Amino acid sequence: MELFLKFHVTGEVPRTERVLAQADDLGLTGVLLNVGSPGVGGGFRHRCNAASRLGRALRREGVSFHWIVPVFHNPGWFAAHPLLRPVDLGGRVFRRKDWYAPVCPNDPEYIERFEGMFLPTLGVLEPEGVSFDFLRFPFFWEQERNLRWNGRQSLFCGCLYCRDAFNAGRVSGDGGEVEWSSPGEAWSQWRAGCISTIALRLSRLARRENPQVTVWIHIPPVTGGDTSAACAMLYGQEIAALSRIVDRLSPMLYHGILRRPLSWVRRSAEEFRRLAGTTSSVYPSVEWREPGSLRHSTMKRWLSARETPGIRGLVLFQRTEREA
Ligand SMILES: [Zn+2]
Repeated sequence: MELFLKFHVTGEVPRTERVLAQADDLGLTGVLLNVGSPGVGGGFRHRCNAASRLGRALRREGVSFHWIVPVFHNPGWFAAHPLLRPVDLGGRVFRRKDWYAPVCPNDPEYIERFEGMFLPTLGVLEPEGVSFDFLRFPFFWEQERNLRWNGRQSLFCGCLYCRDAFNAGRVSGDGGEVEWSSPGEAWSQWRAGCISTIALRLSRLARRENPQVTVWIHIPPVTGGDTSAACAMLYGQEIAALSRIVDRLSPMLYHGILRRPLSWVRRSAEEFRRLAGTTSSVYPSVEWREPGSLRHSTMKRWLSARETPGIRGLVLFQRTEREA
């Protein structure tokens, strides 16, 4: 089974010797690294240069290097543009909670800025893979225990950009606009379509730069009920559509954050595998801390190919102090 280690860094990129020692110890296939967003904590370029050196060192040891790109989460943008924050369907503006700083997926200025950063950074890092995180509508799932669609959650985004984009593509039978106040199924489909369209565009950009690049997408977890419906409603992610666009789906099955038993991780992995069909591979991301909880050997045994057909690999999420 392939094994990856995932880091989020907002300060210094981990030292090469340390990561190489972990790669050796764990028998890693690859490393996924999030170096944050430009303008956050200063030194984005410095972190990218350090990450590029780390990537080259890993490659020399036969360990692949993948860049985690936070798409619609950007604390710098969130702080600098208070009037452009995501809005729910009741008109309430998203209030920052903890570290999460979502951006509306239909904000044209942000998308232009993001794409202006994306290709040059890809050129600096030269990763084997690019992993899109926060490629979804805003929902702070880390603060919820019960991640199933119940029809009552506060959904984003209902900002003016989104209303305009929705109405531009939707005309009712009598020739008028579809009512935004009761968007229902049409709105849900439209939202999932927005995310799939952006995923396709970003995947194409990455593949144009490097046709061999592996494209991943992070999928937030669901804790019960209809997984497909919950992903579509809570996050605007349609799993079947995304699986045709990217190479790997990585559902974040963090049992510690969600206080779920380990059996939930395997059940969820199986469910995502079923939804992904045959067009993409599922690489569940699971919590890993040292010392404690699960050792990689336990995980490998417990999520082995025999037990979870179609699961080729596992991503160990090494939580940092920020998220711990
Ligand atoms: Zn919006």
